[in-house]
Amino acid sequence: MKRMIIAGNWKMNMIPSAAKAFTEDIMNVLRQRDNKSTVILCPPFISISAVADSIGDMSISIGAQNCHEKPKGAFTGEISASMIADAGCAYCIVGHSERRRDFGENDTLIAEKIRILINAKLIPIWCIGESLEERNNGKTFAIIEKQLTTTLGELKDIDCSDIIIAYEPIWAIGTGLAATPEQAQEVHEFIYTILTGYNLNLPILYGGSVTGDNAASLLALPNINGALVGGASLSVESFTGIVDAANKQLH
Ligand code: PEP
Repeated sequence: MKRMIIAGNWKMNMIPSAAKAFTEDIMNVLRQRDNKSTVILCPPFISISAVADSIGDMSISIGAQNCHEKPKGAFTGEISASMIADAGCAYCIVGHSERRRDFGENDTLIAEKIRILINAKLIPIWCIGESLEERNNGKTFAIIEKQLTTTLGELKDIDCSDIIIAYEPIWAIGTGLAATPEQAQEVHEFIYTILTGYNLNLPILYGGSVTGDNAASLLALPNINGALVGGASLSVESFTGIVDAANKQLH
């Protein structure tokens, strides 16, 4: 049976008090649903505890948006994988295109982060995706293949069977221009094939301008196991609308 995972990346939004109130609103809606999807909220570090305190026994999970690649030490301003695990996270986004672009993260560093996350028993939500220029130059598949194989090549010595992939075409992030179901499906199928070569069968999320309106058509596709949601994860109505669309795939 298909698995559905809906993760909300709040980015640098929601101070702790707002995060608490927002989480409670989400829970109030989900309590009225027969939710069978994995719902993951990814607040900024400072708001993780507020979300963890709010969710109590409710089956909502928490993810961080980043972590440092080293276990501990003199890295002023950084947060380790064990810190986010202890704060209540089960997941951590890694390799988001904003971090690749703004903080120079590359596929090798991303491998180090995935390693430290797996060691800390956290599930990485590993983002990959091509830029508009790369797509227009017909390089989408080559870029995806390079991102996957470079990182996986560094991780040959560890078990990578507990990772979530998020295909996030950069041109679709925050633009309101989601990939069409056809565009998404062909890349998801390609990712699935590459992973099969590594004996991996990982959930593959789509991310990039997912809304309550377009979620149903994307989530219905065979190789799409959920969504990583940015902007629409900041609205209770939109986010729970996406969760509803995911649940429709499961009922
Ligand atoms: C993201 O940044 O991970 C994302 C998918 O953003 P948005 O949904 O706003 O495009």
